[in-house]
Amino acid sequence: MWNRLRLRPLLIAVMVCLPILYSCGSDKSPDSEAPKLLLVSIDGFHPDYVDQYETPHIDRLAETGVLADYMIPVFPTKTFPNHYTIVTGLYPENSGLIANNMYDAEMDAYYSLGNREAVRNAQWYEGGPIWVTAEKQGIKTAPMFWPGSEAPIGGDFSTHFHTYDEDLPYSARVDSVVYWMTMPSELSPDFMTLYFSKVDTYGHWYGPDSDSTAAAVREVDEQIGYLISELDRIGQKGNLNIMIVSDHGMAEVYDERVILLDQIIDLERVDVVDWNPVAMIQSKDGEIDEIYQMLKADEKNFTVYKKEDLPERFRLKNHHRVPEIILIADLGYSITTSDRFKQSSISGGAHGYDNRYSEMQSFFLATGPSFKKNFQIEGFQNIHLYELMTHLLDLEPAPNDGRLDSLFHILKE
Ligand code: AMP
Ligand code: ZN
Ligand code: ZN
Repeated sequence: MWNRLRLRPLLIAVMVCLPILYSCGSDKSPDSEAPKLLLVSIDGFHPDYVDQYETPHIDRLAETGVLADYMIPVFPTKTFPNHYTIVTGLYPENSGLIANNMYDAEMDAYYSLGNREAVRNAQWYEGGPIWVTAEKQGIKTAPMFWPGSEAPIGGDFSTHFHTYDEDLPYSARVDSVVYWMTMPSELSPDFMTLYFSKVDTYGHWYGPDSDSTAAAVREVDEQIGYLISELDRIGQKGNLNIMIVSDHGMAEVYDERVILLDQIIDLERVDVVDWNPVAMIQSKDGEIDEIYQMLKADEKNFTVYKKEDLPERFRLKNHHRVPEIILIADLGYSITTSDRFKQSSISGGAHGYDNRYSEMQSFFLATGPSFKKNFQIEGFQNIHLYELMTHLLDLEPAPNDGRLDSLFHILKE
């Protein structure tokens, strides 16, 4: 693998640059052929949505590229663990993002999506995301929103990035990417992201099979169309690999399917760090066995584990942030309390469940000069995407849990 200008002595750079009047302000090697890479996330987009709903722009991209039957998310099938796995190639027990809400006893601190201070604290993020790998090797990056992108992981930020703003119009996000692509080569990033949350939000509020979710899918699909037309306009379509992914799917949930935790254990005795549909429970009084036995005695519509007994396949238990008891609801069930349940309806959609459920599967599509065309593949695990992306960008990958050979067959020979 060829490492770009960072290792090249200055003298060689001068000798190469002078005679051919190459743009010497650029970090990019003159003979590097690696196209730029754009990673797009549509939060909560189930792979069936392309058949179920109108997605003309995504369909057209699938014809020109690679479409997976589905992608397998990591457990828990939540937003932050999966987005961070996609960019690091690490299972949650190695990435540190074991849930959307966490407590770390060593830091004596809580993490949640809405806690700006925590989200920006690099101590929560282990391993190295692709933008850190790239920047360390002299390649500029620009996440247009991605979990972890606001924290100085490894001591550095991306060259360009934005503070998360849920209200930023989708077209403005696309415009940012297009703007970055038209920058002079010494400033223009080689790796970029885009993130859209609406399909997930409407999936939660109205369920995966609702008209509102259909409308959200159509809106995001239109933005994909806008992106492609803008890339055409600036003449950059041929120089860009695009991967469109989702973090997890969405399952219908029902008011009739609830697990009322306060009716099983005394909530005064525990700290429920994350609630639904995977409750992560720490005892306050150290009587963990007693609490576990009470849950076990009432184990209906959920499975309860002590941390050390979590199935190996979840690749979760070997992290100190995982609390003593983990309660996993069966598909379609919600974990709540009697009071909360009285106050508001639960019906709609949810995710977070066992990653074996087909409803939790995620989406993968790739198109661009490096990918085969009109190529359908079977499902694969999202831990392999980091290796694929480092290969596409000609980077030396950091240690991770994925393997390039799992996806090598989707690349053009
Ligand atoms: P979930 O609870 O797993 O459904 O999380 C989805 C939510 O995560 C979305 O509604 C977003 O508002 C939020 N989110 C996504 N990316 C970020 C980010 N980079 N920073 C903060 N919140 C985010
Ligand atoms: Zn999500
Ligand atoms: Zn969600």
